[in-house]
Amino acid sequence: MKTCYFCQGEVMEKRIRHVHHWDDELVIFENVPAEVCTQCGEVYFSPEVLKMMDKATLERTPPDRSVAVPVFSLP
Ligand SMILES: [Zn+2]
Repeated sequence: MKTCYFCQGEVMEKRIRHVHHWDDELVIFENVPAEVCTQCGEVYFSPEVLKMMDKATLERTPPDRSVAVPVFSLP
């Protein structure tokens, strides 16, 4: 059994949604295989998964679908 690096909680394999953002760009990855801590919620990705997400982002692969994201600016 794997344990969390931060809290030693139990880590489970799951498919999750991951939001990747930098500056004004936002990319959502769905169905991402990850290991999630059941205690603190820390998410771990395998190097292969990170590489796939980097590749899709850098190469501007056409996305499967797009969503509009509302932006609120507080006064
Ligand atoms: Zn944890």
